[in-house]
Amino acid sequence: MSSEETLRAELVTTARQLHASGWVANHDGNVSARLGDHFLATPTSMSKGAVSAEMLIVVDGEGELVSGTRKGFSELKLHLAAYRIRPDVHCVIHAHPPTATGFAVAQVELGPPFMAEPVVSLGRRIPLVPFSMEPDLQELEEADALMLANHGVLTVGPDLETALLRMELVEHLAKIALVARQLGGPVALPEDLVAQLHEKHEGIFEREADSPAESTWTRRSGSATSIVADALKRHS
Ligand SMILES: [Zn+2]
Repeated sequence: MSSEETLRAELVTTARQLHASGWVANHDGNVSARLGDHFLATPTSMSKGAVSAEMLIVVDGEGELVSGTRKGFSELKLHLAAYRIRPDVHCVIHAHPPTATGFAVAQVELGPPFMAEPVVSLGRRIPLVPFSMEPDLQELEEADALMLANHGVLTVGPDLETALLRMELVEHLAKIALVARQLGGPVALPEDLVAQLHEKHEGIFEREADSPAESTWTRRSGSATSIVADALKRHS
């Protein structure tokens, strides 16, 4: 398989996973990935559970169709903005996972970091971006996942798997935060531990080339769990 065929297959798997997980309904959600100077993306107006490799479209940096028989989605602008703000990012996923989106429509942040592993995987903040038809994604400079007010969640990553795992983690954290709020609210982790864990997040991937379009990433540190175990040892 060529690298484009591999990417097409991965993108289809990711789109179907969004649907299988119940994080999108109807035609919601979209997935894209860098393909050289262009972007490979899911087409508009179809269930993410029914996407196939030949249905994918290729667009340029302005969102103009380069190849494919289907049309681009309106939220493509969000993806292209994310790639502009984060030249290091290779993949963008947008979905409406119900619990995290519940926080987003209530315009409630998940809160200060209340568990250790997610700080390593996602960073210290999942910013809530104010509602707009064209939301400002500048917060991506400091974050790998955003809650979009009255809308849903956007995650980025060096590859599709990481962006998908980040989506999963945001939804999982939202479920935990919802339960914690019913029990008096989550208690924040100590600030010095959060700072230490966030530093690990910053260094979790290492880029192997300077040109973003050609760069590949390798995981530099161990799993979030082993990083947390080390940090806790040092913290206590
Ligand atoms: Zn949406």
